Amino acid sequence: MQVAPQRFRTHVARAAIAAAGLMALLNARPESTRLAEAAGAGGAVARKLILSDQARRYLALQYRSYPTEFMGCMIGEAHGGAVVVRRIAPADVDPAQSAPTHVVPTTSCEQAGWAGTVGVIHSHPDGQHCWYYFPGTEVLSSDGQSFARQPYALDAIMCGDRVVWISRDMSERQLSTVSASGQANGRAPL
Ligand SMILES: [Zn+2]
Repeated sequence: MQVAPQRFRTHVARAAIAAAGLMALLNARPESTRLAEAAGAGGAVARKLILSDQARRYLALQYRSYPTEFMGCMIGEAHGGAVVVRRIAPADVDPAQSAPTHVVPTTSCEQAGWAGTVGVIHSHPDGQHCWYYFPGTEVLSSDGQSFARQPYALDAIMCGDRVVWISRDMSERQLSTVSASGQANGRAPL
């Protein structure tokens, strides 16, 4: 996914510095420094992701419906080290910017009207390349690099039977989307 990094940086900076000044500042520094600083920007580190049943159903339907990548705003709240996603709202995506292997939102979730966004989720329709690091390496994939530039606490990739996600500790985790008994991880309390 490409997550319009310019827009997210602008969003982060709005309260603090004029966007133009920030862009100059960011662009003048090494990539590694920018990634490290961005990784600390989201504050809370989530070690557990909990999807409500509604969120699970929405993801399953979206995943089944589209041959191209979709993107959603995960709305919820943090409880200690756990993030509970209550619902998933559609990100504002131009159809021309959604393809089988990438999706780009036109604006941030907040600007699309979704307050309380804890992170963004997008799909990989073929269920492939669901990772933030290239396997066996510490090299960030394009999704990993996108997350490092975002302001949100976490990011997720819907891959059919599982959701792969990452938080500000930059540890990749996953949970099953199959709501069968035995799915102890990731079920929201009703
Ligand atoms: Zn992706």
